[in-house]
Amino acid sequence: VTPLRTPPPRLERVGEQVYAFVQPPGGWCLNNAGILTGGVLIDTAATETRARLLRAAADAVTERPVHTVVNTHFHGDHTFGNGLVGDGVTVVAHELTRHDMAVTGHGMTRLWPEVAWGRVAPDLPTVTFTDRLTLHQCDPAVELVHVGTAHTTGDVVAWLPDERVLFTGDVAFSGGTPYLLMGSVEGSRRALDRLRALDPRVVVCGHGPVAGPEVLDTVESYLALVHRLAVRGMAAGHDPLRVARDADLDGFGMLRDSERLVANLHRAYAELHGAAPGEPLDVLAVHRDMTEYRGERIVSLA
Ligand SMILES: [Zn+2]
Repeated sequence: VTPLRTPPPRLERVGEQVYAFVQPPGGWCLNNAGILTGGVLIDTAATETRARLLRAAADAVTERPVHTVVNTHFHGDHTFGNGLVGDGVTVVAHELTRHDMAVTGHGMTRLWPEVAWGRVAPDLPTVTFTDRLTLHQCDPAVELVHVGTAHTTGDVVAWLPDERVLFTGDVAFSGGTPYLLMGSVEGSRRALDRLRALDPRVVVCGHGPVAGPEVLDTVESYLALVHRLAVRGMAAGHDPLRVARDADLDGFGMLRDSERLVANLHRAYAELHGAAPGEPLDVLAVHRDMTEYRGERIVSLA
């Protein structure tokens, strides 16, 4: 077991039979997961150590061993523990998430060489769906809903209607900057409308502290700012990096990982030029721009 460079993950009870596994302080690769006491996990964790901590946390509160893992999207911080959190576990995800996992494999480990990954196991989903799926193997049942292309093309949220608890995956960040490099600005705004319509009581975002529905409003206002900056910046003939540097972040200065603004502007520019939601951008080039904006290498504390 590798020592953590952050405070340890903590378990927060967010409903009668629902826990959030929160990994402070959030940020790059420090995601949250969900534990349903009926033996279902919503996402896993980035490193072997963190996945094992998640497994131990689940073992402590579930009525039976974990039998099902839902992946909200393909990113490694949510999927690398798939093969480490239980024996004979069924992994469920959107079909595009399975496709992207098959293509990217362990790719994320190369982006963050400073992380002690250990043995990661992004086992591919064995059950996929396209629109929505309800898991009745736990009580209460959990509804999985594809909300379109927002953070990635295969984003799925997990919704517990009786408890009114919503796990958003990375469609929403709490205390952190949204990240649309592989998704869509417009698609994210549509997805947020759908999430608000659910009228959640508790919102567990893909990263950051457990929140209430107000976190969806913060994300929505941030996306509106990205859109405004992109329209103005493009009209002025400025590139996304310059627009980001000149931008007044107004009330969003407190969001972690502000360099994501550069990536979000690249996505907004692409869409203003007619790109389809989720159309691939040059990830490494955008990463270089984000690094330049930040003025130092972007590191992950996972
Ligand atoms: Zn993600």
